[in-house]
Amino acid sequence: MATRRPLVAANWKMGGSQQLAQELFEKLSRLHDGLSEVVVCPPSVYLDSVQRMLSGYGQELTQKLVSLGAQNLSHQEFGAYTGEISGAMLKEFGCSYVIIGHSERRRMYGETSDMVAEKFAMAQKMGLTPILCVGESLAAREANRTFEVLTGELDAVVDKVGIMAFDNAVLAYEPLWAIGTGKSATPEQAQEVHAFLRQRLTGLSPCVGEKLRILYGGSVKSSNAADLFNQPDVDGGLVGGASLNASEFTTLCRIAS
Ligand code: PEP
Repeated sequence: MATRRPLVAANWKMGGSQQLAQELFEKLSRLHDGLSEVVVCPPSVYLDSVQRMLSGYGQELTQKLVSLGAQNLSHQEFGAYTGEISGAMLKEFGCSYVIIGHSERRRMYGETSDMVAEKFAMAQKMGLTPILCVGESLAAREANRTFEVLTGELDAVVDKVGIMAFDNAVLAYEPLWAIGTGKSATPEQAQEVHAFLRQRLTGLSPCVGEKLRILYGGSVKSSNAADLFNQPDVDGGLVGGASLNASEFTTLCRIAS
């Protein structure tokens, strides 16, 4: 069985500040080297300064596998797309990862599964590792359509990029009813879905499916992280609200290690 390095990603959404980055890096630099990897995804205007701060710590943080990610990218490479940010720009400003298909973008900004698939492909073309988010609504869960919704969101990307592209990707299961609500999935609910997603990918390529890290996202905090992260198919977390508190997020990174 493949061993998967746990990963904890901070999604600051439209929050955070340069000061938060300072506080966070200070705390992470004092953390003992662990097994987990950490990705910080600030709003794009902060990428430059956060990258400089991160580089300032040098090996202290790179050895701890702390890196930078973005929250979104354009599905286009270059051109007249006012307000958009390209993958090449994210790469130039030090990003290694990019969150793709977050439910807030699907729901509020009309990102379809096709667009999400295009963004996934563009991220990889630009040398970024996509963190692909999938998740069902409360209505879908209550109608027993969880697996159907997840399959649709996942297959839209697999069909476009092929299973081997998932060799360099991260998947995040983020049930919409748990995001920012304070109501997390239970460890058993998370495990059930993660195992389903892994099985689906393993059916297409055993080595890709076994190797792929699947993060859980949805009201992760220090009080529930250990139980969630201990599930066999949960390889860490994508953390929104709790990532805006440097101490809390550092605790989550320690728990994941
Ligand atoms: C998220 O938006 O990716 C998320 C998981 O948010 P929260 O942790 O606040 O539920």
